[in-house]
Amino acid sequence: MATSSDNIFLSLTAPGVAGLTPYQPGKPIETLEREYGVSNAIKLASNENPLGPSPRALEALARVRADLARYPDGAAFSLKTALARHLDLTPEQFIIGNGSNEILELVTRAFVTPENEVIFSEHAFAVYAIMTQAVGSRARVARALEYGHDLDAMAALVNDRTRLVFVANPNNPTGTLLDAASLENFLEGVPAHVLVVLDEAYFEYVTAADHPDGTRWLARFPNLLVARTFSKIYGLAGLRVGYAMGNPQLISLLERVRQPFNVNAAALSAAEAALEDDTHLQRSRELNTQGMAQILDGIRKLNLSALPSAGNFLAIDLGQTAAPIYEGLLRQGVIVRPVANYGMPDFLRVTIGLPDENARFLRALEQVLSHHNPHELQGVNA
Ligand SMILES: *Cc1c(COP(=O)(O)O)cnc(C)c1O
Repeated sequence: MATSSDNIFLSLTAPGVAGLTPYQPGKPIETLEREYGVSNAIKLASNENPLGPSPRALEALARVRADLARYPDGAAFSLKTALARHLDLTPEQFIIGNGSNEILELVTRAFVTPENEVIFSEHAFAVYAIMTQAVGSRARVARALEYGHDLDAMAALVNDRTRLVFVANPNNPTGTLLDAASLENFLEGVPAHVLVVLDEAYFEYVTAADHPDGTRWLARFPNLLVARTFSKIYGLAGLRVGYAMGNPQLISLLERVRQPFNVNAAALSAAEAALEDDTHLQRSRELNTQGMAQILDGIRKLNLSALPSAGNFLAIDLGQTAAPIYEGLLRQGVIVRPVANYGMPDFLRVTIGLPDENARFLRALEQVLSHHNPHELQGVNA
């Protein structure tokens, strides 16, 4: 295969594209089993809901089959209406995306040029950097504070060229959460020519008492866009559907760069049905709370710690280069996520799974670590 510097088309690319590295997703189970010859692998690498989707979403999917010859409703009228009712907003405040990743792309394409700058935090979700570079814009990366967003450092980077700020709350891969008061204070200081994308992909997992909720600021800050997804707690990552909420004038400009039928019929109808199932959400949240306690307890016995997480995953500090540990886990059929590309080479990110999956991860981790540091761990989990 040609290396990227041999690529004869490299000089023809749009500004930014030549220097891009594609997003690195969690390794799919089938890929691991094919490459390593293992079976019964488990994947705790992409923050998917281990319970899967709501049964109501599955029933809706079965009904969609009758209509598959038809194009989907590109305006997503029915899903927007259901979301508006659910979140106490109006349908004009919504745009539906092929995953919320598409929304991040739409906002960048619609508003950011090579003359602009985009602000995000160190250790923030990788897609922000990719989108910024793909449109040839300059990224201004704020130093993190204990691995979380430092909103003061981010505010200090705002200037006349700033067009967009990405804030992930909770952030992935760190799990860190900003409180409502700090966020509100930050939004008050952002000038009107700067759009703020508040990425709340894990919103429904958050159990913090002040429950920072971007929708409560939409009426006050017309430059705010709040993005959420059906990929995480709703368990529909495979269908690709997410959404954003904002001022209708802002939303209408994003609609101009959206593909006519960006979200498929199955995704639209499963998402709408999933919204109605509060019981499934509740169960998913409880399972997550218990699983997180299980993993935290297990790693404590291995003398390890994790960053405090408000999501459905933990960034575990291994205190040593994580790459060989990641490899060792793969050999045991356990897929987690290395985060060296996030500037965190000593961490692994693990998604909270079912109790059995969490236990298997902990056993595999103990085994791999005892192989890598035989003397330090002797008898720790005996
Ligand atoms: C998972 C995730 C998303 C959403 O991904 P989609 O599947 O495209 O909806 C967005 N932001 C963050 C921070 C995420 O972790």
